[in-house]
Order: sequence, then structure tokens, then C-alpha cells
Amino acid sequence: MSISSSSPIGTLSIVVVILLAALVGVSGLYVQQRAVDYSPRSTSINKQIDGEPGSLGQRYEWRMVTTWPKNFPGIGMTPERFSKLVERMSNGRLVIRVYGSGELVPALGIFDAVSNGSVEMGHGSAYYWKGKIPASPFFTSVPFGMNAQEINAWIHYGGGLELWRTVYKPFGLIPFSGGNTGIQMSGWFKKEIRSIDDLQGLKMRIPGIAGEVFSRAGGTSVTIPGSELYTSMQTGVIDATEWVGPYNDISFGLHEVAEHYYHSGWHEPGAMLEFIVNEDKWNSIPKDLQAIIEVAARAINQDTLDEYTARNATALQNLQSNFGITPKALPREVLQYLNEVALEYYAELAAQDEQFAEIYESYNNFQITVRKYHDISEKEYYITRDYN
Ligand code: CA
Repeated sequence: MSISSSSPIGTLSIVVVILLAALVGVSGLYVQQRAVDYSPRSTSINKQIDGEPGSLGQRYEWRMVTTWPKNFPGIGMTPERFSKLVERMSNGRLVIRVYGSGELVPALGIFDAVSNGSVEMGHGSAYYWKGKIPASPFFTSVPFGMNAQEINAWIHYGGGLELWRTVYKPFGLIPFSGGNTGIQMSGWFKKEIRSIDDLQGLKMRIPGIAGEVFSRAGGTSVTIPGSELYTSMQTGVIDATEWVGPYNDISFGLHEVAEHYYHSGWHEPGAMLEFIVNEDKWNSIPKDLQAIIEVAARAINQDTLDEYTARNATALQNLQSNFGITPKALPREVLQYLNEVALEYYAELAAQDEQFAEIYESYNNFQITVRKYHDISEKEYYITRDYN
């Protein structure tokens, strides 16, 4: 059931989610308020429909630009659901119109557009901004990093959000977690991968830090937009590609252009999306609307993970039953090698960039601690339930 459902059960779920989020969020809000000055300013930049600036009766119309094609399944629907939820929660006082990539600004132009105040909000992924902020991938996903449950814990209860806000502050942006795809798949390969030798010279679409790791391991990483993956595979521009997981991969028809489907997603173990809000616009709205944005973002962050878990499972079944695809694991020696290369690369980046070093330390310390707990809880249970 999606957040935007209007059924009684859906409404009840939303109320429960909101109440829980509000209860558990009280201490978190206090911490956030210390990190960022949220005090309203005297001038309103937003379109005033009626009432005085900042008064409870005032209605606001915002625009949100995104890095996804309009209404793209899953991640592209996340901002749409957020917008509907905010409108309902605010009783129509905050209306946010969502734009797909290229409608107002190109996909990778959203950071600047929100930063300079051309639009109020954006939805995308922090790791797209690693050219400006080398540490930004920690706020999406990094190779051999934390899974969705763990990164949510770091962001909301492990100091991650405060660091994220500090990092975005010079750009006049306030970030929020904005959905998670869960662990992704290693991707689609035209030929079988049996050893490290098979990576040598392999041309793969794999962006970000993972792409650099893949290149250092002997492959050639390229960055190609999702919409061009099918043709690039078909025409031999690339030999392999990662995208997301069964749900999104099947919608691009990737099972038609490659026969080997590998897991697990060493490169993106729990990709978190982001909402970004222009700080001046944020300061121009009343505190109750600010709270609605915070709580709606938190609810949608979880909702996206729930949707991906359900839809990936049924899409995997479809791939297996109707297309004869049997996913397999990358060889252990390949994964161990990629892990070694990744750790060397992190150490190199930390030595070059002070902010990267600071965030890596927080992220890594949290991962070490949560891993010890998950080893005897989540992981142990996965093994236990397979006994019979
Ligand atoms: Ca991906």
C-alpha cells in the first residue's frame, strides 16, 4: 500500500506513521535545530496567495526539480508521493509541483537550481554531486558500505544527518533522506565472470566511487544515463551495466540484451535518495509547514524502501519464471579484490580531502558498530530461517 492511497487502511497507516515519526522525532528535531538556523525571516520569497507572510492562512506554491524522468517507476514516483502527502498534511497550504529531469533544468542541474533559489526543492541522489563535494557519496551509498537499514540508522540516530547538513550549508541547502532502493544488483554482463582476469578491459556502465573502484580493478567504467542503457548494451558500446534491481532493470528490458545477471550489489548496498530544500525558502515558511516537510520526507524515505522490497521480489520471480534468468553471485575472489581496492581508494581520498576524512570516520565507525550487532541479529536470522 502506498502512502498516497486514500483507502481507510491507507489513511490509518499514514496517521500511525506520522504519529510515530513525530514521537520519535522530537529529540532529533532538537538536534537538527541546533545544527541549522531555522528561524523565519521577515521577508517571504514565495508566492503569496492570501494572508500575511508566514501566517497560518498563507498558501505556498513550490517547485521541485528531480533527476528522474517524469513518473519514472519507483524512484521517479517518490517525489510525486511526497508532494501529494505534503499537500494533504498541510490541507492544501503547501503545494509542490514536481518536474521531471529536463523539464525546468537538466537532471544534474538540480543542485545548482535549488542552491541559487531558482526553485525551492529538488529530489535526486547526493553522490551525483561528488565533483563539488567528494564526501557526498556517503549520503547515498558507497561500495561495501551500509545497507538501507544501517544507513537510515546512521543518518537519523548516528550523527549522519548533522554532518550532511553541515556539508550542504555552504550551498544554502537543507538535505533530507528521500527514499532508498535497498541493496542493488551487481548488474547485467554479456559474458560470464569467473575470475579477476575477466574484469580486465571490461567496459561497464557503473558510476561514482564504484566506477573508480571498478577501473582500478582493471575494468573500464563509463557513465551513461539509464535511458541509453538498452541501446548501449545492444550495440556493444558497453559489455556490462548495473542499474538498480529486478523491478527497474526489467522495465528497461536489460534481460533482453545480456544473459548473466549477478548479485550482490557490492557497489550500492543501499542507495539512499535525497530531498534538498533551499535554505532561504525554508526560512520563509511557518514552522508547522517545515515540520510537515520533515515528517513527510521521513515517511516517504521508508515508503520507497517498502515499495522496492515488494516490487523487486515479484520482478525477480517474473525474470526467473518467464525469461529463464537465474541470478548468480560474483566469485568470492572478485568481490574480495574489489573490496581491497575500495578500501585503498577511501584511504587515498581521505588523505586528499579533510571533509571526506571526517565523514568517512563517522560512517566507518558507525558501520563497524552496527555490523557487530547485525552479524548476530539480521544475518544470523537469515541463516537460521534456512535451516529447514
Ligand atoms: Ca545503480
